Amino acid sequence: MTTQVKHYIDGEFIQGTGTSQIIVTNPANNSPIAVINAATSEEVHAAIASAKAAFKTWKEVPVSERARVMLRYQHLLKEHHDELATILAKETGKTFEDAKGDVWRGIEVAEHACNVASLLMGETVENVARSIDTYSYTQPLGVCAGITPFNFPAMIPLWMFPLSIACGNTFILKPSEQDPMTPQRLVELFVEAGAPKGVLQLVHGDKTAVDILLADPAIKAISFVGSVAVGQYIYKTGTDNLKRVQAFAGAKNHCVIMPDANKQQVINNLVGASVGAAGQRCMAISVAVFVGAAKEWIPELKEALAKVRPGLWDDKEAGYGPVISPAAKARVLKLIAQGKAEGAECLLDGSDFTVEGYESGNWIGPTMFDKVTTEMSIYKEEIFGPVLCCMESDSLEAAIELVNASPYGNGTSIFTASGAAARKYQHEIEVGQVGINVPIPVPLPFFSFTGWKGSFYGDQHAYGKQAVRFYTETKTITSRWFESDIAVASTPNMSINLR
Ligand code: NAD
Repeated sequence: MTTQVKHYIDGEFIQGTGTSQIIVTNPANNSPIAVINAATSEEVHAAIASAKAAFKTWKEVPVSERARVMLRYQHLLKEHHDELATILAKETGKTFEDAKGDVWRGIEVAEHACNVASLLMGETVENVARSIDTYSYTQPLGVCAGITPFNFPAMIPLWMFPLSIACGNTFILKPSEQDPMTPQRLVELFVEAGAPKGVLQLVHGDKTAVDILLADPAIKAISFVGSVAVGQYIYKTGTDNLKRVQAFAGAKNHCVIMPDANKQQVINNLVGASVGAAGQRCMAISVAVFVGAAKEWIPELKEALAKVRPGLWDDKEAGYGPVISPAAKARVLKLIAQGKAEGAECLLDGSDFTVEGYESGNWIGPTMFDKVTTEMSIYKEEIFGPVLCCMESDSLEAAIELVNASPYGNGTSIFTASGAAARKYQHEIEVGQVGINVPIPVPLPFFSFTGWKGSFYGDQHAYGKQAVRFYTETKTITSRWFESDIAVASTPNMSINLR
């Protein structure tokens, strides 16, 4: 039996009147689990009109009342943590523990949004000129929109709408059409938390819905997370239409392993960081660069990776689940074949892996290549599957040069026991998020998620202070009061009027 996915437009959950249907499938066997009636142009425009109308009143709601909605929301998210993780695991194929992590990383951002009053504080300078003071306020922008990818259906929507709405904006969420039920539940809980009608809208669909959001002048800011090609399109189209845009895109993250590193930590961490979540993480480590004698650890890493067994979401022994779709699987298998054809040494090949009883699912076993070079497709393209590419380097300097030549700059890490090597790496590396003996350095919400280069188009990043700047305008006021007016105010009649 399939579930009908609901839009949330102008305060109503509706199945929509669109005739273009999108089938949501279980990645473990590709059986249908839900159906979306993709939002029609009228429905997307109705969501925009409702968000525009709601902005007029929501922006006037005192900041502490807006924060209280977030307080209730983060509480509800925690109460429903397991339920959300179950919905998420079933539609993405992630293991239950991994799904809980996805939800939790989102909850942390919602928690941080409770602190919005402090985040919105402006600046003041007294006496910028004689008797003149200057101070600034941060005010909301208006209607904002978020377009999110399949791989974190809880965390990434929660990077966006709670903070944007806490800042006084209204918001339209267009989640991935591949796993829409988690975002739907997030929206239901937001309504339960007391969000007034119109403040949040949910429209499901694909490019058609996105293009309407990109074109409509009522939308002031667009937050996007997804692939490079779509990110570039969203950034170009959104900014051409004079919107503020932040677009987080694809990645190819390197881990540099120095020979003085803690070998066991390296192996344990690389296993989870490369094939965990089936490699479908924008911060997954997809390239391991072994410096000098560290390359001798490659056979042990292979042994550890070979022990990871994919499985169903509720299989407690499973290391990770299937990839999201047959198309995603076909892409990864094509890249594995290209890797072999282009001369990389395939140490582990998960192309033929399957799970008994679920043979029609999108399974790929852990895969590992050695002797990878920068010309190979498996190095140049984001694989987004459980595939680790190993490379060798003679020195830290050469490893830094290699990483800096990559067009991407989302995340990187170094494993070493040397403070000096770590300091050199963190300083010279041209990547926005660096881990030192930490494989996946995703910052907590009081920082921001700061991808660089081809992994990010825009100026202000996700969550933290940068997101507050992204979702607000700064108004700077310069004021002067004339001392001579005090005398007038001190006359008996005036002082009564002033009380
Ligand atoms: P995607 O680009 O295919 O889709 C993302 C969103 O864009 C979806 O909502 C989709 O409906 C919409 N979309 C797709 N094609 C479109 C088009 N032609 N025009 C307008 N909208 C379109 O990405 P995905 O496959 O869902 O997600 C995986 C990608 O996201 C990977 O490349 C991954 O690296 C990236 N990602 C990046 C980050 C980051 O922070 N940098 C985080 C998570 C995921």
